[in-house]
Amino acid sequence: VHAVTATTAAPIHPDGDGEIDSLFSSHRRSAVENRTKFTLKARLAMLSRLKATMKTREDEIIRALYTDFRKPESEVRLTELFPVYQEISHARRHLRSWLRPHRVHGSLGMFGIAAEVRYQAKGVCLIISPWNYPVNLSFGPLVSALAAGNTAIIKPSELTPATSALIRDIVEQTFPRDLVAVCEGDVQVSQALLDLPFDHIFFTGSPQVGKIVMAAAAKHLTSVTLELGGKSPTIVDSTANIEQAARKIVWGKFANNGQTCIAPDHVYVARDQAPALIDALRLEIRRVYGQTDGQQKTGPDYCRIVNRRHFERLTALADDATSRGATVLEGGDRDPGQNYFSPTILGGTTPQMAISQEEIFGPVLPIIEYDDISVVVDAINAGPKPLAIYVFSNDAAVREDIILSTSSGGVCVNNNVVQFLHPNLPFGGVNNSGIGTAHGFYGFKAFSHERAVLRDKFSVLRLLFPPYTPAVKKLINL
Ligand code: NAD
Repeated sequence: VHAVTATTAAPIHPDGDGEIDSLFSSHRRSAVENRTKFTLKARLAMLSRLKATMKTREDEIIRALYTDFRKPESEVRLTELFPVYQEISHARRHLRSWLRPHRVHGSLGMFGIAAEVRYQAKGVCLIISPWNYPVNLSFGPLVSALAAGNTAIIKPSELTPATSALIRDIVEQTFPRDLVAVCEGDVQVSQALLDLPFDHIFFTGSPQVGKIVMAAAAKHLTSVTLELGGKSPTIVDSTANIEQAARKIVWGKFANNGQTCIAPDHVYVARDQAPALIDALRLEIRRVYGQTDGQQKTGPDYCRIVNRRHFERLTALADDATSRGATVLEGGDRDPGQNYFSPTILGGTTPQMAISQEEIFGPVLPIIEYDDISVVVDAINAGPKPLAIYVFSNDAAVREDIILSTSSGGVCVNNNVVQFLHPNLPFGGVNNSGIGTAHGFYGFKAFSHERAVLRDKFSVLRLLFPPYTPAVKKLINL
């Protein structure tokens, strides 16, 4: 069993002296050795070890995320720590059965043949993670990579430097460097890594960078999982429970300051429900985050936009919309000094506005009224396939019709965002919102090669070999 001991090493940066190349070579060697060494027991031990280190360093994780974008402790616990711990417990509970070879039955011609599918580690994996849930989206995929028996190099985001440095530290405390390593840095580091022939790349980030990752992977025919983003629409129909919908939408939209890949991007609401929904959203925002802008700004439960660039991007989106006729129905306050952007609701946006075309990724919620649900379905189908679609409705026929007539990574009915937390559901997008899935068995599968193993016991296939006598031809033509 690979000795799981702490190593201390200097941070890895692209310094042109071949450090990334030599790290990669060491991973290649260890990936081959680990094919036989990574027993179930060894994998379970690694997962426990990761959890143990994270547990002892929870306070530091909470501090780092506060430093990076003032993320509240409760949100760190719920959205950064809990999902990783759950992923670890779930994998530990089920890994034995996931690893068991699956016997498969054949057709009549396969008589006398035993066949099975084995999940084998792909080898050396690259995990590139974004800044918005840096711990969750670095360690979540790592759990799947290790459960599947791989080595991994993680490239966390440069936009959350305190958390990325801590991720490196936790990894160095927990794993040998040729098993799991962290390369901190920006695009340059990412590109240096992408030049290498990894066995699998698991990328979480924007669709734009997803395309760059996939193009780089194509050079080595490296398989990819792409967890991307986009505009996830929410539909509130005329039968929905408005109070419940408002509570859930406010949580889904404004947690992490709207910087969530599966946050509801915008809301389509049946025209007769619109005034009630807007009132309920307004009340809920004030109940949760504070009655006045001052209270919201100083409140402990509302984090910040990650940096000035994103703050300005968001400001430009909102200003463009209002300059072209949209109205601010709630919020709209900002403080560039703090990258503070209050929970904001917009009405009167049109499809031509940039805010209707780009992923918002911040605390601005456009509300679009509709008369005919089929127009909403057409609008969704006219755009790139979303990561999620949310439907608030108490009409089963409407819900089913929306599910059947649209495509998206996932659907969540009468709630939002929580589909991420279900351990037995595949999590991922479709086309522009992603390729492949994560979490639980699906994450394990993403990092595994499904290997076909066939054993000939007493097969009759030899009866079909040449010379092709009339008797053989008759058999072949059967
Ligand atoms: P991003 O694509 O800008 O960056 C992600 C990672 O890629 C970072 O580590 C970054 O350093 C690296 N990177 C950036 N430009 C690169 C380039 N040109 N070449 C190689 N690597 C590069 O994404 P982000 O801003 O960190 O995160 C926000 C995006 O991620 C949103 O679109 C969001 O929807 C998406 N997201 C998706 C999920 C999901 O699970 N599907 C989860 C979180 C975020």
